Amino acid sequence: MTKRVYNFSAGPSTLPVSVLENIASQMLNYHDSGMSVMEMSHRSSSYLEIFNETKAMLKKVMNIPDDYQILFIQGGATQQFSTIPLNLMKNGKADYIVTGSFSKKAAQEAQKFGDVHIAYDGSDQDFKHIPTQDELNIREDASYVHLCSNNTIYGTEWKYVPDTHGIPIVADMSSNILSKPINVSDYGMIYAGAQKNMGIAGLGVVIVREDLIQEHQEKIPVLIEYDTLSKNDSMYNTPPTFSIYVLGEVLKWIDSLGGLEVMQKRNEEKAKLLYDYLDQSDFYKAHSYPENRSMMNVTFTCPSQELDAKFVKESVEAGMTNLKGHRSVGGIRASIYNAMEKEGVETLVAFMKKFEEENR
Ligand code: PMP
Repeated sequence: MTKRVYNFSAGPSTLPVSVLENIASQMLNYHDSGMSVMEMSHRSSSYLEIFNETKAMLKKVMNIPDDYQILFIQGGATQQFSTIPLNLMKNGKADYIVTGSFSKKAAQEAQKFGDVHIAYDGSDQDFKHIPTQDELNIREDASYVHLCSNNTIYGTEWKYVPDTHGIPIVADMSSNILSKPINVSDYGMIYAGAQKNMGIAGLGVVIVREDLIQEHQEKIPVLIEYDTLSKNDSMYNTPPTFSIYVLGEVLKWIDSLGGLEVMQKRNEEKAKLLYDYLDQSDFYKAHSYPENRSMMNVTFTCPSQELDAKFVKESVEAGMTNLKGHRSVGGIRASIYNAMEKEGVETLVAFMKKFEEENR
């Protein structure tokens, strides 16, 4: 086997090696079932065991209260952008906080279905900033307030839960779910595409307060009715079976290391290595304002676009990959999700130092 690289991809992204090894060892014959998980009927007892264990593990690891439903849905986070208004916009009105590309897309999609008010728009500050409480302008009669807890492209992250005066918060946590403990009951709904901290693509995870999904707009496609999905325990149709199994294995790995407190500590240490280096350097420039920095996606630029390109090229030769910033912002982005080991970040910092010395 060729050596594994340090993969800084924003998603799909690196997975814990022990999880991959475990999955590989079970590939041909899962727990004496005589078949791979990929080959199992979603209604078989072997698969239902995996499904129920994964749900129970998510509930345990995230400390999800009993009045929340956990849904495993085919697709990803973008699919939820249109699903959410059709299910949760009870009075045809919802407020959106726009802090980056995905929250903007979510708002644009919701505009097709109702009266959307932008409670904050960070585009005039190049999305370097997360609004403070007094910068938010939330309507009293909004059905929900949508936000994106971590902006994957710009590298910013919410550090507090805004006060919405009791209006349910719907949070896209695609890029920081499972990175730290959160209080689930601060939110009406949490959703994420699984292909970062939760495993692999093909699965959207929804955690939603039961009372919010009992009514929805009439005549919406059955496969996006949260109520129907919930009543059928995510098995109205075939769920993404293998992606759910991978999520289960990732959750067991998190649990075995000590849960989300330990994840947070590990992630803080890794992010600090990078931000400390960026702060003392006059060569690199971090994108986001210090108080809004993401622990998961660290974004920065070299002094010129030519040097950005050279950085990316030479980082590949140094055993790292996927450090190119998103096409909409350029520069460099290091995604350092749960599964990125500290050694990967140390390798990156050593490379940054060498690159700076050689190119200043
Ligand atoms: N929201 C956020 C915060 C994301 O990072 C992404 C994908 N990178 C999406 C939404 C879109 O997710 P998907 O590709 O699963 O539809």
